[in-house]
Amino acid sequence: MLELLRRVLGKGCRTIRYPHEAFMPPSASMGRPEVDLDGCDMCGRCASACPSSSLTLIDEGIQLDLSSCIFCGECARICPDHITMGKEFELAAKSRDGLKVVFARG
Ligand code: SF4
Ligand code: SF4
Repeated sequence: MLELLRRVLGKGCRTIRYPHEAFMPPSASMGRPEVDLDGCDMCGRCASACPSSSLTLIDEGIQLDLSSCIFCGECARICPDHITMGKEFELAAKSRDGLKVVFARG
């Protein structure tokens, strides 16, 4: 038991004081999808491919609902010219509507 405690304590702290210290996600992690509508023809293939119906074509552009997005990257795979998986992971909001992101046409 003493040996176990010695080994556990000997490893030191494995966590950081987030959010007081910045956290850099691993390079392979996928955060919020980012949509660039420059040149987008509003074909809707991204919305059709989304397994959780989180993308909606609206008059202003494309709406992403982060309350249902599962960060699978399928939209970026279908349309790599206009959608990339970003690194943004601090996505909390105080309301359901706050989780809706609109990517507006320019
Ligand atoms: S982002 Fe790509 S797939 Fe989605 S509507 Fe625009 S062109 Fe079509
Ligand atoms: S990452 Fe996946 S779940 Fe999220 S919007 Fe794209 S296709 Fe839909």
